[in-house]
Amino acid sequence: MKLHEVGLPNEQQRKAGFEQWLSSLPGPSWLTMQGKDESRHRVVVTLLHGNEPSGVRAIWQLLNCPPACAVTTHFCIANLDAALKDPVFSFRHLVDKPDLNRCFGRPGDSLSYHLAREIEDKINEISPEAVVDLHNTSGDSPPFAVALSDDHEHQVIASLFTDKFLHTSVHLGALMELSRPGQPIVTIECGGLQDEGADQFALEGLQRFLTKINIRRSRPKVDMDILHNPVRVKLAAGKTICYHSRKVDDVDLVLSKDVDKLNFGELKAGTQIGWLGKKKLDALTVVNGLSDCEADAFLTIAEAD
Ligand SMILES: [Zn+2]
Repeated sequence: MKLHEVGLPNEQQRKAGFEQWLSSLPGPSWLTMQGKDESRHRVVVTLLHGNEPSGVRAIWQLLNCPPACAVTTHFCIANLDAALKDPVFSFRHLVDKPDLNRCFGRPGDSLSYHLAREIEDKINEISPEAVVDLHNTSGDSPPFAVALSDDHEHQVIASLFTDKFLHTSVHLGALMELSRPGQPIVTIECGGLQDEGADQFALEGLQRFLTKINIRRSRPKVDMDILHNPVRVKLAAGKTICYHSRKVDDVDLVLSKDVDKLNFGELKAGTQIGWLGKKKLDALTVVNGLSDCEADAFLTIAEAD
């Protein structure tokens, strides 16, 4: 996998349509659209996960009907190999390659790590004033932004897309972890994979991101809903999980099939989210990026089942 600089689609490619154009790209691709101010740059990254297409669909719309870009804007369409594997947009990453959005800022010697470093180098080379990385969530969820900092510039970028902002300290090897003062990077989750509104959300947000004259001098939304210090609940190494509507023998964690309905809402204490096996809470680890967490500080086992 190597990052290819490619031109904007020509008229023939535009007529042939989105999927034809996508499959004609030589691999991970970098496209550049000139802006009114050519001395400043912004970057839009998408398809780090091959099954999250809202960002690239929105980019296709913008390439066909280009807005007046305020500054020179670059588009990075990353994990095309996974995206184009049949059936298209079904694979987060190829089974023999690590998750690309877990390879940033981490040592590693496979092609995914090399591509992550190439994307990082390219971004550093042009010193963009803002970077957004567009994703979809696997389950049902409203759109939201994620960043490692909740300072003014990260909030302003998030505001161009959404009023929901997750300020996290959890490090996973994601692109947004390369964010630094003057070169802010914000992840935008455009909504669920199956959510029909997610493509439109991505398009409208990108139109604002591309045309905003001065991001740094803008103000974030006053009613921004910022969630601080989220915890990540993970299946412990070697433990098993399945989805079912009842407890399943010899499985360490069973989640109900519609557990994603609980996403991004407020859960009352006592809300059941699944069934634990014999290892009980040892099946789970909880991290917040700052210190070790005990699972029983967040989760309780109700014995009556
Ligand atoms: Zn993703």
